[in-house]
Amino acid sequence: MTEAAPVSIEASSPFELRVNLGKDLPETTVKEALATGDMGFLHSFTTGSFLDGPGARVVAWTTGCGWRCQYCHNPDTWTLRNGFPISVQKAADELRKYTRGLAKMGGGLTISGGDPLMQDRFTAKLLAAAREMRVHTCIETNGFFGEKLTDPELDTIDLVMLGIKAWNDELHQRLTGRPVEKTLAFARRLATSKKRMWVRFVLVPGLTDDPADIARIAEFAAGLGNVERVEVLPFHQMGRFKWHQLGIPYPLESVVEPSVEATEKACDVFRSAGLKAT
Ligand code: SF4
Repeated sequence: MTEAAPVSIEASSPFELRVNLGKDLPETTVKEALATGDMGFLHSFTTGSFLDGPGARVVAWTTGCGWRCQYCHNPDTWTLRNGFPISVQKAADELRKYTRGLAKMGGGLTISGGDPLMQDRFTAKLLAAAREMRVHTCIETNGFFGEKLTDPELDTIDLVMLGIKAWNDELHQRLTGRPVEKTLAFARRLATSKKRMWVRFVLVPGLTDDPADIARIAEFAAGLGNVERVEVLPFHQMGRFKWHQLGIPYPLESVVEPSVEATEKACDVFRSAGLKAT
């Protein structure tokens, strides 16, 4: 396993491999952090992203994810202690540096991961702090732990980017290691509360490209009434080196990126259901 470089809060991108940054913390401290949210674990902050929500985003990349998506490009974020410990106050202070620029560029804070709801208390506190600064807030999640957020906490989120990975549950479990239902339940809850939502769908040739399966996701998403857009993300191999360096067998070693035409075709399935897809 690769040893961690000296940590800085900011990374040039989430594709920096980061490991073991919180490994020396006592278990009781970690448990307390998870229970209170006064401290969290972050892979990094990145700034200036235009890919993680509307406008320019500061992204807080949390560590911890209970899923094992075959195409995950940040497997170093699976393990909570790979992230560095940071107080919620310090994380908020970091965000505060950018508030003026974010407002000018129509952007805000996105909390991604990993899955930010693995650290639901920290995520909720950071969202509340951002809301106090009048910063636009967004979380990117697989929704599995959506029930951990209370309704008032949901109110502090302007936009949820929800990953729907597959419709067929057998495929979903093979792809992620988890059933799809809790993701769908969270989507329904967001729809009931009229929360703005973007759906993210990763297109992997030979794995998630069955038009019938995509059509079921499209039909579901269109029926919710709160989905503003669907982002079809073509699979890529930018995270392959992380699997190799972490020594995790990588199941998609020889899979190639989908063609532009195939990606457009998947977008068309969503468009046919009346959704905006890019
Ligand atoms: S949910 Fe996201 S972070 Fe977790 S394994 Fe899947 S792609 Fe990776």
